[in-house]
Amino acid sequence: YFRNILVPYDESEHARSALHIALGLAGPYPEARVSVVTVIPSSTLPDPTLMSSAAFDTPYAIGDPETYERIMESVAENARNDAREVIEESRDDAQCQIVADAVIASSPTEGIAEYVTSHDIDLVVMGRRGLGALRGMIGSVSFGVLRSVDVPVLTVK
Ligand code: ATP
Ligand code: MG
Ligand code: MG
Repeated sequence: YFRNILVPYDESEHARSALHIALGLAGPYPEARVSVVTVIPSSTLPDPTLMSSAAFDTPYAIGDPETYERIMESVAENARNDAREVIEESRDDAQCQIVADAVIASSPTEGIAEYVTSHDIDLVVMGRRGLGALRGMIGSVSFGVLRSVDVPVLTVK
């Protein structure tokens, strides 16, 4: 069985389906782990070079490390809550470990590919599409991950 499953999570219904499937696969195994990870593209965050600017001397200045911490924590917290809800919705209770995480990367695809290698992931379960409005067959992040990782990728509707 798969011991180290990654669910790249963007809070879409497709990603939530992926969460259901991953927890179903890993659920019976106490040694298995499901990591629910949201990638925050660095371009969507305030410029970190502002951190050293003398103009920002208030505790919650834009670019403050605390601001980053709070964004990461609230994003991970949301993933954790959604995973709990998914477990409650399913009949069986999950024995597996669940990790909720947020990472910063240049793009979602980059962040996911990097997470796969750095965390010894053996299966990726992700949505075929995500939050994007375009109704193509497959989203750009799914496409990018399929192209860039060496482990099996299960894409779900
Ligand atoms: P596009 O983003 O190309 O406009 P889309 O939003 O419909 O289209 P994707 O972004 O490829 O499609 O989403 C497919 C899956 O990729 C999602 O269901 C989710 O599993 C994962 N994903 C997308 N964005 C992120 C992200 N920022 N962090 C983690 N996982 C993500
Ligand atoms: Mg998207
Ligand atoms: Mg997109």
